[in-house]
Amino acid sequence: MAQLSEPFVVTDPDVIDGLDHWRTLPIKQQPTWHDGAAVEAASAELSILPPLVFAGEVDTLRTRLASAARGEAFLLQGGDCAETFAGATADQIRDRVKTILQMAVVLTYGASVPVIKMGRMAGQFAKPRSSDTETRDGVTLPAYRGDIVNGYDFTPESRRADASRLVKGYHTSASTINLIRAFTQGGFADLRQVHSWNKGFASNPANAQYEHLAREIDKAIRFMEAAGADFDELKRVEFYTSHEGLLMDYERPLTRIDSRTGTPYVLSSHFVWIGERTRDLDGAHVDFLSRVRNPIGVKLGPTTTADDMLRLIDKLDPEREPGRLTFITRMGAGTIRDALPPLLDAIKKADATPLWVSDPMHGNGLTTPTGYKTRRFEEIMDEVKGFFEAHRAAGTHPGGIHIELTGDDVTECLGGSEHIDEATLATRYESLCDPRLNHMQSLELAFLVAEELAAD
Ligand code: PEP
Ligand code: MN
Repeated sequence: MAQLSEPFVVTDPDVIDGLDHWRTLPIKQQPTWHDGAAVEAASAELSILPPLVFAGEVDTLRTRLASAARGEAFLLQGGDCAETFAGATADQIRDRVKTILQMAVVLTYGASVPVIKMGRMAGQFAKPRSSDTETRDGVTLPAYRGDIVNGYDFTPESRRADASRLVKGYHTSASTINLIRAFTQGGFADLRQVHSWNKGFASNPANAQYEHLAREIDKAIRFMEAAGADFDELKRVEFYTSHEGLLMDYERPLTRIDSRTGTPYVLSSHFVWIGERTRDLDGAHVDFLSRVRNPIGVKLGPTTTADDMLRLIDKLDPEREPGRLTFITRMGAGTIRDALPPLLDAIKKADATPLWVSDPMHGNGLTTPTGYKTRRFEEIMDEVKGFFEAHRAAGTHPGGIHIELTGDDVTECLGGSEHIDEATLATRYESLCDPRLNHMQSLELAFLVAEELAAD
């Protein structure tokens, strides 16, 4: 009788060894765990739990990102600055997915370009911090590093790094991605539902503009259906997950060898990025992620030199593989027009085509006199405009946006058509970390980006 057998794939032992080389290198932004045995136990548990995504999906995403790098698609990446365990409710996950789907419709329709949808979701639990500690009223405790490490409450018990949170982070990610898959594969994301995604949101210019667009899409779909087109394709949408690849005690155990190819993938999400604070060329994060097959992002802040950038390309994408490397620039509205052009000039002379994405959030933070961390909608938009201008001048492709957002009606960023002002911030400020665009501000941003893209 014929035997069904796996393809015979040998993994080079050096590849496996290499996955732990980071342990010998300088590493930043890791928690101080107090119980080594508990970390080992959590790590052992994670290493036998099923992967959260599949290597084949990761490969498909790489080809999608390659088309964005060529200017044939656009990446929309968005979600919380820091997901929380308490925030992983059905309603909140649904509303975030809905906001991203609505933004994608606006971009697709307005700019006639395929939009790759990606959440900062199902694993965005670990945060880099500017200081290891936080002091309040003379009491100093460890900084909050995200729900996967410690609690936000300002008590010694809560702020103590707790390794059991690594496993809870995995399970919370698993239930989040499960719901995302249900929403995006089970008919909820069907383009014929464009109207229903808008329900329940207060009327506002951006929502009215969206309603108008949804009616046009409906009309076009009805016409095509009447003409005999089969729209089964519209029922499902591809939706990818991503988070900062920061916490090595989580990422390493969720790294697996793909049985088809014998090569390693981080299977905690489809896409991982390296943050501005951990992108040191000789550091642990760059080394570790240079050895996995996922598409990788790197945040580039305003001090990035062309040389830094070229060396990151050599290290992370030596084969110059299409879709492998994404640069996420987060320069600040006042800086992008000076800081981005030299990088684009250098890339044109180099033999590389990374995907360029704008993160207009992280270079535009400010703190109000009343102590709220916030961002101005106008500055966020201005950075996006500067990003498009720089690419237009250089002849390179502005390939995506990376946004901190929520589907809820929070009041965390200033401005937008609801005119959120400093006094309003207090009414619904919920983020434990950076301020996010609310649903309405996110839609408004999408309309403005669609205009930029259409003009491109
Ligand atoms: C983030 O994306 O939340 C973040 C910390 O960004 P950056 O690494 O760009 O500072
Ligand atoms: Mn952030």
